[in-house]
Amino acid sequence: MKSRLLILGPPAGGKGTHAERLAAELGVPHIATGDMLRKEVSEGSDLGVQAKAAMDAGELVSDELVGAMLVERLEREDASEGWIIDGFPRDLKQAQVLDAELGNRGVDLVIALEVERADIIERTVGRRVCPRGHVYHLTHNPPETPGVCDIDGEALVQRDDDTEEVIVHRIEVYHDESGALLDFYDSKGVLRKVDASGPPDDTYARIHAMVNSS
Ligand code: AMP
Repeated sequence: MKSRLLILGPPAGGKGTHAERLAAELGVPHIATGDMLRKEVSEGSDLGVQAKAAMDAGELVSDELVGAMLVERLEREDASEGWIIDGFPRDLKQAQVLDAELGNRGVDLVIALEVERADIIERTVGRRVCPRGHVYHLTHNPPETPGVCDIDGEALVQRDDDTEEVIVHRIEVYHDESGALLDFYDSKGVLRKVDASGPPDDTYARIHAMVNSS
């Protein structure tokens, strides 16, 4: 069974949702650089202070900061048997940082989610999150009580980078960087593209079949 997996894809492509589900099923940690950075920002750490402006503007945080943060996370005990990384690498330079850290075995499988631009915008602008990371959508997955997390009762908010203006820029950043990144993993024979435009359960079934058959 493959246990060193990357999930790549555009903003609001479903990376977090599918990575979390698959990680629970495989019994490996779900490592999401976006979540790690948001936690640093909310705690007001040095890293969070340095990352916040780039994140709010839909830009990438510097490779040095995110690379060091990820390498440190991969060296923790719970990551020794495998992991699913969501949101890293974002560009070729980060892929090289990861390769250098992993050595000969590298990654087992890279799942690239594919979603149309109009769907990304609609998913993002309607997304609401609670401070503990539970994710909703105003029309596709609304909470039982508007504005309140079903699980922990926290007030739901819109991420600062989920506005229409910022998402348009995040999509551009993804398209600028992802071509070379996908080619890099394709040339290693580990890339699998997945249509992620439909209902989440359908997409997950495709991912699941892919992980089990490869
Ligand atoms: P995400 O939650 O993956 O959509 O990431 C949200 C934001 O966090 C991105 O728009 C970037 O500003 C930042 N970020 C997350 N992962 C990375 C990364 N690997 N490299 C640089 N910036 C990142």
